[in-house]
Amino acid sequence: MKSSIAENIHRIDAELTGTAARLVVVTKTHPVERLEEAYAAGARLFGENRPQEMAAKQPQLPADIEWHLIGQLQTNKVKLLAPFVHTVQSIDSLKLLKEIDKHAAAHQRVIQGLLQFHIAQEDTKSGLSLLEAEEILASEAFRELRHVRLTGVMGVATFTNDEAQLRREFQQLRGYFEHLKNVYFAAEAAFCEISMGMSGDYQLAVAEGSTLVRVGSAIFGSR
Ligand SMILES: *Cc1c(COP(=O)(O)O)cnc(C)c1O
Repeated sequence: MKSSIAENIHRIDAELTGTAARLVVVTKTHPVERLEEAYAAGARLFGENRPQEMAAKQPQLPADIEWHLIGQLQTNKVKLLAPFVHTVQSIDSLKLLKEIDKHAAAHQRVIQGLLQFHIAQEDTKSGLSLLEAEEILASEAFRELRHVRLTGVMGVATFTNDEAQLRREFQQLRGYFEHLKNVYFAAEAAFCEISMGMSGDYQLAVAEGSTLVRVGSAIFGSR
């Protein structure tokens, strides 16, 4: 018999105990009943990759869930999420930051964001380079934003079993985090998150300093 959602969550929670990492349960494509099971097992951080899907599920679930968007966000979809999203993990432009700021202000909220970096070898995976991120952070326009707060970095590693390569990619992301922390966020304790690690590689990511692991199929089974 396959293990249940609750068993999987409890197993991963136990693995993360004593580490710096928290579990983001990736619920994309799964129906609300399965999200309720995850909630009942104690999960509170949920990750979705599509704005419409997240906006449809959110009102059907308890209000104390922290919703994390982990997929690409087009500026015209920000308004769907602005009333409730906790963290947009996939920030990849100043334009997107400005749009989030505008809609968050309209709801008198502050939305958190992670800068998504390109760390994988596959060039299909999106994300910023360090240079692009620094251009955003150094800009006057960024410093004027009051309703979006950057709290760290996010990356998706190459889909591979090569542990040495995965470690290198996680170390690269952690290096970016430390550089940005030192140069731009030294005075901001809130800039503290390194979102890395998925079902196949989260143990390695935690060993390399992940603070948020994004796990879907190891909890719900393969899609
Ligand atoms: C789907 C997804 C995950 C979770 O992937 P699993 O392999 O199912 O754990 C993590 N991060 C992102 C960005 C995703 O799109």
